[in-house]
Amino acid sequence: MQSERTTEQWRALDAAHHLHPFTDTESLNQQGARVITKADGVFLWDSDGNKILDGMAGLWCVNIGYGRKDLSEVARRQMDELAYYNTFFKTTHPAVVELSHLLSQVAPEGFSHIFYTNSGSESVDTMIRMVRRYWDVKGKPGKKTLIGRWNGYHGSTIGGASLGGMSYMHEQGDLPIPGIVHVEQPWWYRYGQGMSPEEFGVVAARWVEEKILEVGPDKVAAFVGEPIQGAGGVIIPPSTYWPEVERICRRYDVLLVADEVICGFGRTGEWFGHQLFGFHPDLFTAAKGLSSGYLPIGAVFVGDKVAQGLAEGGDFNHGFTYSGHPVAAAVAHANVKALRDEGIIDRVKHDTGPYMQQRWREAFGGFAHVDDVRGVGLIQAFTLVKDKATHELFPNWGEVGTICRDIFFRHNLIMRACGDHMVAAPPLVISKAEIDQLIDTAVQCVTECEAVLHQRGLV
Ligand code: PMP
Repeated sequence: MQSERTTEQWRALDAAHHLHPFTDTESLNQQGARVITKADGVFLWDSDGNKILDGMAGLWCVNIGYGRKDLSEVARRQMDELAYYNTFFKTTHPAVVELSHLLSQVAPEGFSHIFYTNSGSESVDTMIRMVRRYWDVKGKPGKKTLIGRWNGYHGSTIGGASLGGMSYMHEQGDLPIPGIVHVEQPWWYRYGQGMSPEEFGVVAARWVEEKILEVGPDKVAAFVGEPIQGAGGVIIPPSTYWPEVERICRRYDVLLVADEVICGFGRTGEWFGHQLFGFHPDLFTAAKGLSSGYLPIGAVFVGDKVAQGLAEGGDFNHGFTYSGHPVAAAVAHANVKALRDEGIIDRVKHDTGPYMQQRWREAFGGFAHVDDVRGVGLIQAFTLVKDKATHELFPNWGEVGTICRDIFFRHNLIMRACGDHMVAAPPLVISKAEIDQLIDTAVQCVTECEAVLHQRGLV
């Protein structure tokens, strides 16, 4: 957007009129927001001309990188031709047909139907309504309860925030809504001490079984989880977890749902995160990487069993004005095609992902207060800890993460603090030289951070 204003003027107007998401408005307005004005590849520029390495791909979404003129050209052409039409009343349009066809090709076998939304949260809410509807149609209307996980993230709508396990979200607005319960997350570092990760994976999966038995299998509709918990701090479950969860869901006739909003579209080096762990969900939700954030669009991939069940039920009374929006669909199509045809996801799996993971572990393994250095593909994290030997975390969870995150900011590198987990998830087009730059800067920042922790008497 062209504008003649200065940084100070933008900040003042922003403070006067804009309420930011997940923000303490008063404290933000005292500092003033950073004004981002342009982006290209893996870099952002702010209104003061600083060049910033975006180690988070926006909000884990700009998989294809910034500044793809071919995507803006597709949007322009689609806007000229058919800027909007709905798909409600016996109507469709080429953009949504082409996208659906392409998605059915990149999705694993058995996912030939897609329902569109505008965001990850709407995909999750759509999925909640779908699984409940499915069991109604199947003559099991008692199966209504969904099981999520503490520290899982499934969005900000009432359904998504309820299913997510962020207690600081539940505290605001009387969540969760009825019919949603939670089990503990498969976080080995915190809960699995004394066990091998593989043993712990089975133990954590059994928590799902215990919850199903507590609620009653005839009342449980679905278990929902992110293949890797993203906003919860990149919690990567042991390899034994998902297969055991799958076995349990099948045993009790509970639908298994993967929330692929972050893991989907190549983040882990596979097209979808559940493929990395080798399990087979009945449905999965997506957004973010579907359009690489160029326009808002989300989707629910509906497995054949559920799609057929829903079809048997006649009308499914659900949808959005912008479900399958033609411009968003055309851009998503061009994005997904590029991710496939340019070999971007393959490169994450075979080249840049392994390179990042090796360098990440080498770079951070030696710090006194950094532990659980982990990652796969181009999603990685480490945890700032008080005592590595005893795995003791800092008492005021998130305080040290925020100190560290602010240091990264000052060095023009964006990484995210999820509590005291420091997370990176750069655009999938990042080069090895840019990975080096990311890691070298991050090492400098963590060195500075440890010095600050000493100065402040936190360690
Ligand atoms: N599910 C997951 C796994 C997510 O990470 C997010 C967003 N970070 C959402 C759902 C919600 O997506 P949105 O913000 O697009 O509503």
